[in-house]
Amino acid sequence: MPDPWYKDGLRFKCTGCGKCCTGSPGYVWVNEEEIHEMAEFLKISPEQFVQKYTRKVANRLALLEHARTYDCVFLKEGKICTLYTARPTQCRTYPWWPENLESKKAWEEESKRCEGINHEEAPLISLGEIKGTQNAKQ
Ligand code: SF4
Ligand code: SF4
Repeated sequence: MPDPWYKDGLRFKCTGCGKCCTGSPGYVWVNEEEIHEMAEFLKISPEQFVQKYTRKVANRLALLEHARTYDCVFLKEGKICTLYTARPTQCRTYPWWPENLESKKAWEEESKRCEGINHEEAPLISLGEIKGTQNAKQ
């Protein structure tokens, strides 16, 4: 397979601004394993977690979000994830999603939503590190 366009790495540093957890309608999908982990973190049962914090969308479960602000149910004070260490894979792997890495244009486009992409203080994340983030739970 040929090297991807970002073979020399990409610059990214999360500033903790919280913008990827709010601002527009979306879905943070969660699976059974993630539900168990998050429920354990919150010291409630998985059933309680599903009832209190998720919504069903076409046979899948997504985290609830505020109807007006679109804040994720776990976003507090606009920028703090209250279950950060137990957050789902979809959150852990951002911004290294295939759609953001599809092309340089897609990456630049995403940088309008995420200030950590190409941030002036951002370190160069190598291709190996990017692949590691995509494949592994951290
Ligand atoms: S939008 Fe980007 S910089 Fe801001 S919290 Fe999300 S990942 Fe971090
Ligand atoms: S679980 Fe945490 S990191 Fe994921 S969208 Fe919600 S607030 Fe953001």
